[in-house]
Amino acid sequence: MPPRIHLSLAHLCGKEIEYIREALNSNWVTTVGPNLNAFEKDIEVYLGNQSCALALNSGTAAIHLGLLLLGVTPGDEVVCQSFTYAASTNPIYYLGAKPVFVDSEPNTWNMSPEHLQLAIEDRIGQTGKKPAAIIAVHLYGMPAKIDEIIKIANQYQIPVLEDAAEALGSMYKRIKCGTFGDIAAVSFNGNKIITTSGGGVLLSGNEAYIKQARFFSTQARDAAPHYQHSHIGYNYRMSNVLAGIGRGQMEVLPLRIERRREINRSYRSYLSDIKGITFQTEPSPDFFSNYWLTALLVDPAKTGGITRDDLITDLETANIEARPLWKPMHLQPVFSDCPYYGNDTCTRLFENGLCLPSSSILTDDDILRVAEILRMATLMCAREEK
Ligand SMILES: *Cc1c(COP(=O)(O)O)cnc(C)c1O
Repeated sequence: MPPRIHLSLAHLCGKEIEYIREALNSNWVTTVGPNLNAFEKDIEVYLGNQSCALALNSGTAAIHLGLLLLGVTPGDEVVCQSFTYAASTNPIYYLGAKPVFVDSEPNTWNMSPEHLQLAIEDRIGQTGKKPAAIIAVHLYGMPAKIDEIIKIANQYQIPVLEDAAEALGSMYKRIKCGTFGDIAAVSFNGNKIITTSGGGVLLSGNEAYIKQARFFSTQARDAAPHYQHSHIGYNYRMSNVLAGIGRGQMEVLPLRIERRREINRSYRSYLSDIKGITFQTEPSPDFFSNYWLTALLVDPAKTGGITRDDLITDLETANIEARPLWKPMHLQPVFSDCPYYGNDTCTRLFENGLCLPSSSILTDDDILRVAEILRMATLMCAREEK
């Protein structure tokens, strides 16, 4: 059996160990310290000093605190892109609020501005109250139609939380994702474009939000000589040791983006003559995806009957990991009672889509190995048809 090719693995550069060693040698083995300060600064500089950064122990924690700061309280509704990972949605429940799901549009696969508007209007009509926040996601690194989304949000004065967990380094109109929303979240989970093994960052152009987030992320301790609390807090800060990994990773982020984009281009060129395969694609030069994962759709009517599941099975047989696209949240048993607005664009994406191995550590030969399996599966079938 050839060695396994995974979907998305960590890719270290070697500098991480030096920053970790510094943390250990100086005994900053806690949730404050020089690596944390420097890592946050690195992120702020990378984003063009548009935002302040607070490093947390997960992207999910960043979304949770973000919604808390935006004023989401029990009984509220929060509009969320249905086509996403559950970590976008779960924090709505942590706050006792309820999600309202919105479909994707077919260009970016992200939140449909049209259905967002319909959803807001209908919720106001039904409940007499506007949603408390909007969660927009840049899925697989592809920027959402964020200016249209923000325009609608402004029209109703609803704050936007940008889930840029998968989109560090992606840009819309040359502006980096993570700087559009009132608050944004990025993830440094082990499978993301860069990692701290587990971690996240909360971003905002509003420094007051960051100050509040720091307070809530460290158990909401009031300014008093003893332990005094007027609010419920959380233990959400990143460790200074792990921030050391992040510092090393920030140094190679541009290289990692370049490589993921190169992998995406390779798949496209290897598979360009295969009928019935279409890739998630930047709709115009306004969109720059980090192509965290290369994602594609399979149309069995054009592949001669070969389905997404057939391809995943063939890849698995060759010891290659591929996965279906995210299953929409409105189809998840746990969220089945939540309102949903759309015409099932995201359902079709889910039914026919898969992600290919996209780790930046993959070699050109690895990519060729994956592409060969896909070519064989589809071409053999085309031959049988004749
Ligand atoms: C990874 C991810 C998150 C959560 O990040 P964690 O760091 O794993 O908590 C949130 N939203 C999306 C879309 C993600 O892919």
